[in-house]
Amino acid sequence: MNRVRVLLLNAALGPLDYRAPAGREVEPGSIVLAPLGPRQMTGVAWEPERLETEEVGDNRLRPLLAVYDLPPLKAPLRRLIEWTADYYLAPIPSVLRMALASASALDGARTITEYRATGFVPERLTPQRAQALERIEDRQGLVRELALAADVSDGVIRGLVKAGAIEAVEVSIDDPYPRPDPDHHPPHLEAAQKAAAREFVLAVQQAEFAPFLLDGVTGSGKTEVYFEAVAESLRMGRQTLVLLPEIALTEPFLKRFRARFGCEPVAWHSGLRQSQRRRAWRAIASGEAKVVVGARSSLFLPYPDLGLIVVDEAHEPSFKQEDGVQYHARDVAVMRGKLEKIPVILASATPAIETRQMAEIGVYREVKLPSRYAGATLPDITAIDLTQDPPPRGHWLAPTLVREIEANLEAGQQSLLFLNRRGYAPLTLCRHCGHRFQCPNCTAWMVEHRLVHRLACHHCGHMMPPPHKCPECEEEGSLVPVGPGVERIADEVRALFPDARTIIVTSDTIWSPAKAAEFVGRMEAGDIDIVVGTQLVTKGYHFPNLTLVGVVDADLGLQGGDLRAAERSFQQIAQVAGRAGRGEKPGRVFVQTHDPSAPVIAALVSGDAESFYAAETDSRREAAMPPFGRLAGIIVSAEDLAEATETARLIGKTAPQVENMAVFGPAPAPLAMLRGRHRQRLLVHAARSLDVQDVIRDWLGKLDWPRGVRVSVDVDPYSFL
Ligand code: ADP
Ligand code: ZN
Repeated sequence: MNRVRVLLLNAALGPLDYRAPAGREVEPGSIVLAPLGPRQMTGVAWEPERLETEEVGDNRLRPLLAVYDLPPLKAPLRRLIEWTADYYLAPIPSVLRMALASASALDGARTITEYRATGFVPERLTPQRAQALERIEDRQGLVRELALAADVSDGVIRGLVKAGAIEAVEVSIDDPYPRPDPDHHPPHLEAAQKAAAREFVLAVQQAEFAPFLLDGVTGSGKTEVYFEAVAESLRMGRQTLVLLPEIALTEPFLKRFRARFGCEPVAWHSGLRQSQRRRAWRAIASGEAKVVVGARSSLFLPYPDLGLIVVDEAHEPSFKQEDGVQYHARDVAVMRGKLEKIPVILASATPAIETRQMAEIGVYREVKLPSRYAGATLPDITAIDLTQDPPPRGHWLAPTLVREIEANLEAGQQSLLFLNRRGYAPLTLCRHCGHRFQCPNCTAWMVEHRLVHRLACHHCGHMMPPPHKCPECEEEGSLVPVGPGVERIADEVRALFPDARTIIVTSDTIWSPAKAAEFVGRMEAGDIDIVVGTQLVTKGYHFPNLTLVGVVDADLGLQGGDLRAAERSFQQIAQVAGRAGRGEKPGRVFVQTHDPSAPVIAALVSGDAESFYAAETDSRREAAMPPFGRLAGIIVSAEDLAEATETARLIGKTAPQVENMAVFGPAPAPLAMLRGRHRQRLLVHAARSLDVQDVIRDWLGKLDWPRGVRVSVDVDPYSFL
């Protein structure tokens, strides 16, 4: 009797036992199709001794419907899935789902019908249709994918198909990928680069777990250096995963990869069409995809023969997933490296305190690149004290900064103004009665987006047309925008420098790889003088003629003051400053602040990052905060306010008395309402030595709450909202 224990892709179900199809061995890791009541569901065979389930007699077992003709998930990945579920208190099937991230990859079809624009513009052109055609450009995909990209309904796309403006195409989807060539175009490394590369190459050859911190200043050539390790892994015929923050996965990176290895890597990110996702998944699972460059979700894919993992921009907060399984990709990457017995390189110019600490105590090996490539110098950073050098009323750029931009324009060089706020103004206020426009679903102000004539909520996406009069007091012409977003800064720049070519770079203007490529092309061609952008422009770009960076509001990141506010502020400003002067011309950075003596600003100006980090680290140590202690957030939410508060109170009241652990709250979350749900938070603070997950599992496992209540646990939280 061939009994198979199966994990099904349903978070509400525990493992179930089935009978193997007649005459077949089903080894652990095999992907199977199982009957479940009248339905069928995908699952993965697992070692029975690792997962408990109810005893079911042999005679009651149902046979599996099929075993897919795909390579089984290997043991290290199975252990990673178990570890992730355990550590982040998530249902195992939710983690498993990330490994089987393409449902369509499992079946055998080799072609798929996609749609694309024909270039024909129909006579009847509604605004919706016009928007669809404009946004689709040369995109191709399923009806649903095109509708999403164009922000219209499926019906609009289907209407355009009928009208002949969009056509169907049959696409073959399993074409093999070209193979990157490790010797296509190796760079001449400088001495420090060479030494660093040699360490990595050796580690790849040794094929043992070896976590590295590659700590190199912006422009030091970290990418070129870890590319040498990628090349070695290629020579050994093994697979490599390079993890990047989603928004860094753009044309410039792929282009550099192409220049070094002769072809593009296999990319994995949320923007893939279903057909691309399927093709990539199958190539990864078969081992044919040798280098995968992906966002955090690529970490759980079933590489059969991983030889190296690189996490670039490893300090990026976006590696923390904030919904579903709330894992940190940097930390899970290290765990995968440990289970696969391979090196893991964490690269950053501004490593997280957690990572630096691991290097400090010798768990990670630190490799440094202390200076920029080709003798380029790091930019000078100057603080502009807004209390001494204020902009005129209703303006945001200090006279000093304006003079510097002007001089830079005259010198024919490019400037970048950084403000991490999309839209025109973060708040709209009635001058007459004081009414403020708030999102009906969230504890958040409606942000004015003047380019698209809308007020929008950045949390839930709620939109409204800009009002003409105050809904409260009915006064006309009384509404005023309060505070700046990038659109408002761009207006100010255009008024000051009408002849300069100014561009806004945010996720609202650069929404596709094609748009990003166009931006890069225009920057490189010198068609742009001034960029006004959000954090989207702080990542990875290398523009040699960009020599001036202005940080419009350096105090912004310090507001709210959570555990990592100062560190994050420092990283963000250091990264954006790192865009300046990367070529032959030196760069200058001006940081506008109301408090130049704040430790973050002082450290940036003096260039003394070490003492800033040391002070931050000390205060974390004294307060037993991460990485010296542990935190877990418990978030309770419900549409019904009373249900949310009562459940949160119940959780608080039943908190176990455990040595080395304290529970704070419940209290209303700073984002007290999100997408129409009321939110309460508790915070668990524990010593490092305590298995806090075990305590929480036990504690919450004994409690019951109404069906409409959601309780989620955020282990090692990054957001405290
Ligand atoms: P980082 O990631 O450390 O900020 P990059 O890897 O982006 O730095 O390197 C900065 C620039 O210098 C890039 O344009 C890169 O191609 C170039 N560069 C770095 N090292 C070399 C090298 N050894 N040979 C040629 N170009 C290099
Ligand atoms: Zn909202």
